[in-house]
Amino acid sequence: MSYYRFYFLVFVFLNLFCPELVAQTGSVSNEIVKDLTKEACDFLDDTNYEKSLEKSGIALQHAFNIKNDTLISRNYNIIAINFHELGELDKADFFYHKALSYAKRSNIVSLRMMITSNLGNLCFFERKLYRDGIAYYKESLKFGDNSKYAEEVAITNLNIVWSYFKIGNFKEGLPYLKYINKNQNDLKGKSNDIALNFLNGMYWSNENKNDKADKYFSKAISYGESIDEKTDLLYAYLEYSKFLNKIGKFEDAYKNMLSYNTIRDEMTNKEKLKRASIAGFNLELDEYKRQIDKIENEKDSQYQSLKKSRIIVILFVLISFILVFLIITLIKNIKFKKKHNLELLRAKEIAEEASMLKTQFISTISHELRTPLYGVVGITNMLLEEHKELSRSQHLSSLKFSARYLLSLVNDILQINKIEENKVVLENLTFNISDEITMIKNSLSFLSQKNNNTISVSIDPEIPEYLIGDKLRLAQILMNLVSNALKFTKDGEVEIIVKLNKIEGKMYYLDFLIKDNGVGIAIVDQGKIFEKFVQVGRKDEDYQGTGLGLSIVKRLLGLFGSTISLKSNIGEGTSFSFVIPFEHDPQKTKKIIDEIEVDLTSSDVYKILIVEDNLINQLVTKKIIEKNNYICKVVDDGFGALEILDKEDFDLILMDINMPLMNGFETTKRIRLKGIKTPIVALTAFDKDEITDEAISSGMSDIIIKPFEPVKLFKIISYLIHEAKSETSIKN
Ligand code: ADP
Repeated sequence: MSYYRFYFLVFVFLNLFCPELVAQTGSVSNEIVKDLTKEACDFLDDTNYEKSLEKSGIALQHAFNIKNDTLISRNYNIIAINFHELGELDKADFFYHKALSYAKRSNIVSLRMMITSNLGNLCFFERKLYRDGIAYYKESLKFGDNSKYAEEVAITNLNIVWSYFKIGNFKEGLPYLKYINKNQNDLKGKSNDIALNFLNGMYWSNENKNDKADKYFSKAISYGESIDEKTDLLYAYLEYSKFLNKIGKFEDAYKNMLSYNTIRDEMTNKEKLKRASIAGFNLELDEYKRQIDKIENEKDSQYQSLKKSRIIVILFVLISFILVFLIITLIKNIKFKKKHNLELLRAKEIAEEASMLKTQFISTISHELRTPLYGVVGITNMLLEEHKELSRSQHLSSLKFSARYLLSLVNDILQINKIEENKVVLENLTFNISDEITMIKNSLSFLSQKNNNTISVSIDPEIPEYLIGDKLRLAQILMNLVSNALKFTKDGEVEIIVKLNKIEGKMYYLDFLIKDNGVGIAIVDQGKIFEKFVQVGRKDEDYQGTGLGLSIVKRLLGLFGSTISLKSNIGEGTSFSFVIPFEHDPQKTKKIIDEIEVDLTSSDVYKILIVEDNLINQLVTKKIIEKNNYICKVVDDGFGALEILDKEDFDLILMDINMPLMNGFETTKRIRLKGIKTPIVALTAFDKDEITDEAISSGMSDIIIKPFEPVKLFKIISYLIHEAKSETSIKN
């Protein structure tokens, strides 16, 4: 067993740790622990390891109870030093490290410095791990600066000197020795003075300055003896004895060796060591108990956290379940939606198909209805003209009225259908707003007379003479509104007012107002009347409408990008207003006029061929043509037409489209193949837009929709014949 360095260890407690303890917070428990710690230090100083271990063991337990890391660290350090002194190096090492870990927690620098230094002692002097030992010392020096921790620095320096001298490396140790010699005052205690003196003695002995060495050794021993110090005094005797032996003073060397042995025997007294070892054993037991408690505490907290984590797991599982459930629902929803969408898509397709069929159906029925109606109206007219005496016949006028009503209904349905199918495209025609409104006024004069109404027209003079736009649709809107006004007003006035609202570039926005002082429309009905087939307060005897007029107006205005507003009160009259933009561009107008101008002054007699399978239609058309003094020939079908054209020349051909065997298009194609250039006008009950492409491609020159206005027909006939003739004259 070796006892090197013990003195410094004890010193640490007496001189450094204990004063710090006093500075701790003043609770009673703290004070008790501090006192116990101090007692443990004192026993250690007296090499009473048994008592020291006993006291430090109790103090340690208290320190744990009051959770004072500093006191825990200090007591572990005392215990470590005890084991260190007793040569139980592993235990010492274990407790030093414990002390160090609590010192780190409490962050008391001086404590960390000294424990690290003690570990250095253990490594260097006991385990002979010189490099590691020195490394510990140097690490200890790194903790604190010289001024603040002067004492700890000085003690560590002392340890380093002794270490180097111990291994005979006086050169390395010298700077540290010089430092302590210079800062002796930092070593506050005689114990350290003993060490410093014998270390100086060792140095000078090595330098062979025997007098100096002797002086230092003697000083160390007399200090040691005067304060009844043991550990450092022990080494002082030993080193002095070595020195005396070296210089040949064997007797004195022997005496010192005896003193060394006496102290060592005392320190290694078997009984004392045995007791100490029992105390150490108890202390170890305490430590194990503490470890077990700690483990149990940890287990307990682990159990608590396990409980917590179990709850977390349960929650997690629960949330996962909910999530999975939500995801499944979502997927199902998506699938359902997909399926539903597919169904919807299919339903849409079916609906579209149905709507297409409906359109086709309406279109076909309308066409089919228009053709016989055309015949009925035509024949009624003929009857009335040929048999003037029948003009007073109630039946005939009823027939005429009903046929006209039916025709207008069919036309309205066809029109609304076309707008709904987005088949109506506005045309660009040039027109004069005054002319158009006058024409409307005139054509409704019969209606105005019927109810004894007057129609007044007011047109803003700021509106340019010629405008470009779809005058036909405008006329249709105005006709509907004005005729309604006339129908629902008696002995009143219907005003048509057009004002210039604003100009944006070439666009002129016109304000239209159709006002009457008739029966008016109740507020509750005002929203409904724009719906299809809605009629309010209809009285059979005075009015027969289709209930489609205003819906057509609304839809037509939609095509212009406009909306209709209505102001009305029962008994006060009604006013409808809307705004439509028309283009004003004189150059464009001129071009349009140039294109449509026809010579209506001609009094030529033309030869017309009618190709028509329907006998009534043949009759009606022939009558109209012949009324204009034109020569007219009728054939029943396309083959008849081809045959007659081989033999005769005509100025114009009126061609029906719907014919059995060979339709109008086909017949026209064959006529053109024969090289016949005669203008061919399609006569059809079809809508113009629907057949234009096919008519043009087959070689037709124009289209007239049945039932046609005779004037319109003659305008077209004379225009086409005139054009064809001028062409041939140019060629000739
Ligand atoms: P129709 O005139 O063929 O019955 P409309 O769609 O043109 O159908 O009109 C719908 C209804 O609106 C009419 O039945 C009528 O009751 C009402 N109405 C329209 N214009 C006027 C008006 N100027 N004065 C009073 N009522 C009107």
